[in-house]
This record gives sequence, C-alpha cells and structure tokens, in this order.
Amino acid sequence: MKQPLLNVQNLKKYFPAGTDIFGRTTSYLKAVDDISFSIAKGETLGLVGESGCGKSTTGRTIIQLYKPTAGNILFNGKNIITHADKNLCRNMQMIFQDPYASLNPRMTVSDIIGEPLDIHKLTSGHERTERICELLELVGLNKKYSNRFPHEFSGGQRQRIGIARALAVNPSLIICDEPISALDVSIQAQIVNLLETLQQELGLTYLFIAHDLAMVKHISNRVAVMYLGKIVELAPANELYTNPQHPYTKALLSAIPIPDPAKTAMNQKTKLIGDVPSPINPPSGCRFYTRCAYAKPICADQEPLLSDIGAGHLAACHLTT
Ligand code: SF4
Repeated sequence: MKQPLLNVQNLKKYFPAGTDIFGRTTSYLKAVDDISFSIAKGETLGLVGESGCGKSTTGRTIIQLYKPTAGNILFNGKNIITHADKNLCRNMQMIFQDPYASLNPRMTVSDIIGEPLDIHKLTSGHERTERICELLELVGLNKKYSNRFPHEFSGGQRQRIGIARALAVNPSLIICDEPISALDVSIQAQIVNLLETLQQELGLTYLFIAHDLAMVKHISNRVAVMYLGKIVELAPANELYTNPQHPYTKALLSAIPIPDPAKTAMNQKTKLIGDVPSPINPPSGCRFYTRCAYAKPICADQEPLLSDIGAGHLAACHLTT
C-alpha cells in the first residue's frame, strides 16, 4: 500500500479538568481518546460529529497547536511529535471556522496573507507583493483589495482570505476546521467548490471537519464519524451514506432534512435519546450505549473495537462483530 501523507496512530489529547488541594490533577477531559486514521495524498477525509466530540481538538493536535497526550502523528512517514521540523509544519496549514475571529482586524489583507511568507522567509519586496496578488486571484478575490481591512469584506470573502493565507506557504495538507459552518448557506457551496478546484489545481490533501454529514458529503472521499473522543465509523463516503452500520451514524444521517415531504414521511427516523455524556467521565464499554436504541448488556461492559467489516468500512459496534 502507498505510504499515506498523514498517519495518525493512537492519538490522545487529555486536558486537566480538576485538581486536589495540592494542585495535582485528579481528572482529565478526554477530548480525543485513542484514535487512528490515515489520509492518502490528494484525498479528502471528512471528520464529522456533534459539538464537543473532539473533532476540532483532533485537527488542532495534528497541526501542533496542542501537544498530544499520547500517540504518533506521521507526516510523509516522519513522526512530527518526536522530530519537530519547521518545514514539516509549513506543509500543514489550517483554515479556521470563524472568518471574523481568525483574521486580525488591525492588519490589511496584504499583511495577513504576507505574514506566513515573512515567518518562513519565503519572499520579500516585489516578489512578496506579486505572490500576494497571485494568491488573491487564486481564491477569487480582486488584487486591488490587498490594502483593505477584514471588516470591509463579507463572511465568504473573509473565508477566501483565510484560504489564501493557508495557501501562501504551498502546503500539501490543509486542515479545514468547519470552514463553512459560520457562512450563509448560499456561500457555503461557493467555498466548497473553491476548495475542490484548489485541490485539483494544487494537488492538496484535506482533513475536512464538519458537524453534520450533509456538509461533508460533496467534498469527501472517505468519512470518519466521531463520538465522545472516539472514531465510531470510517468508510468511503458513498458506502457510509448508503450503508451506515453504527447506530450513531444512522441517527446523524436520519437527521439530515429531505427536501421532499413524501420521502420525509417514508424515511425511518433514528432518534438520538438523552444528552451527550461528559468527556470527563465517559460511560464504560461503548461510549454511545447511554443513547443507543439497540444497546445490549455487553455494550455497557465491553468497549467495541473499530474493526474492518469489509471494503475499507470500519465500525465500532457489537452489532457488526
Ligand atoms: Fe449501540 Fe452497543 Fe453498538 Fe454501542 S456497541 S452502538 S451501544 S449496539
């Protein structure tokens, strides 16, 4: 098998959540708890789950904004946790969810896009200006806007600026952390189309994080579903949407609105019951059993492992083993 561009192995990220009177940590919030996956060059992996499931923490840990608690992150075969390398980090960039908060309001577009070029000492002078204009045009913005400030742009335009900033250093992997969630529905499709075009033109690889399955359907080659810090299902996109195996994935899929009243009436809804348990004290066994309509006694005692059920379709459920 070809070496993946990104290989995440048994990644954990715990945050201290309580201390005793001596200041010693007594409990942890297990945001990401032993997850593994890989992404091939040129592929898009969608990472989906409810708010608080650990998907954004996964992205931020991969890009080293958070120090992992345990596990390995291999980029092009090199472990970036044990071998910190500025060039390796340059090859991974991030597009953030909030195009309003992620751009410094006191900087011009030119300074925002030029900052990574300066940090990595890639260009200067006239070449730098040309590169900024080229990046603006690449993301569909007029180069005349380069001296404007972020507040002079719409949400979709700001996200394009964020994309241009991520592209400035010629990365090969981009972590897209809910890049369309804060945008109007009419703008979301434009940004997804732009990301797809850039992927084809520049050979990019994406980890595309979103909170619902409808958002990632169009852009992903494979989709991973996360629940309470764990990956519960991972499959090629078409297979996941047509043949979901995990009850949580089924519930997420049945929550997608169908724009046809006749089909909506026929659609069997799988409802989620109860609230998401605390990641500080997750349920024993299967983390989903407190909300699962198909739970059996074994589910409370034994954690189901993420196992291959055929054709690259992985699921962590006792019903599938
Ligand atoms: Fe439901 Fe049990 Fe499967 Fe967990 S292992 S999803 S509780 S059936």
